[in-house]
Amino acid sequence: MIYFIGAGPGAADLITLRGMKLLQKASLVIYAGSLVNPELLDYCPGNCEKLNSASMTLEQVISALKAHRDDDTVVRLHTGDPSFYGAVHEQMDLLDQEGLSYEVVPGVSSLNAAAAALKSELTLPGVSQTVIVSRRAGRTAVPEQENVPALAAHQATMAFFLSVGMLRELCAELISGGYAPNTPAVVVYKASWPDQEIVHGTLSDLPDKAAHIQKTALVLVGRFLEGTVERSKLYDPSFSHEYRKSESPNTEDASRP
Ligand code: SAH
Repeated sequence: MIYFIGAGPGAADLITLRGMKLLQKASLVIYAGSLVNPELLDYCPGNCEKLNSASMTLEQVISALKAHRDDDTVVRLHTGDPSFYGAVHEQMDLLDQEGLSYEVVPGVSSLNAAAAALKSELTLPGVSQTVIVSRRAGRTAVPEQENVPALAAHQATMAFFLSVGMLRELCAELISGGYAPNTPAVVVYKASWPDQEIVHGTLSDLPDKAAHIQKTALVLVGRFLEGTVERSKLYDPSFSHEYRKSESPNTEDASRP
């Protein structure tokens, strides 16, 4: 069986237990060398073949997986969670054509690690209940209806992958889409790695403040960065729900949080 495994954002102990146990019995691991922490490869058995996909083409990855088609455990190790910008679908298509089966093991995305580094909640009551995950168009195109100013019109929490190298253009487009220039924004570089760096600013000053960061970073935008302005209903004493009765009578009763 081939396993697409989310390696987590960087720190070696942020892989899932399931992912670690599969690495411990893998005969082949193809890992995304630019972002996967090499310490994770220490979990592999001594005789495990390890290939860095950074210098491989899609076809080379697939033929290496094919060559091990009779092995019990073959791992394709992707950074963060494979479902975000993982380029996994194209691999799965070719594996389908070859009749090779695979499973996916989720991982902790760098988005989760960045929120943890900031000690932030992305969905704050009264501020934003929506997270838009996107990227700015670069060498990889983005569908026209998902252009940055159009998404900015929602004033939701936004997280941009693969875009820090275009920070100035990104911030300008967010402002032209409707965000106030003083909207808080942050660059989180290498979340969960020892050299993690966080640069706080606003849409107007962040491009200068974070100019030294050109890759391996997320850009997060929105008023959630200012902190809580309204308490959640879930832990409000006057709010009843499935698992707790309210302390005061005749108040809103909802089975949903
Ligand atoms: N699947 C991955 C994203 C892969 S795309 C995930 O879920 O995190 C690669 C981009 O992810 C980078 O350009 C950067 O924008 C972001 N990224 C990956 N690791 C990161 C980290 N530790 N800290 C901040 N951003 C990271």
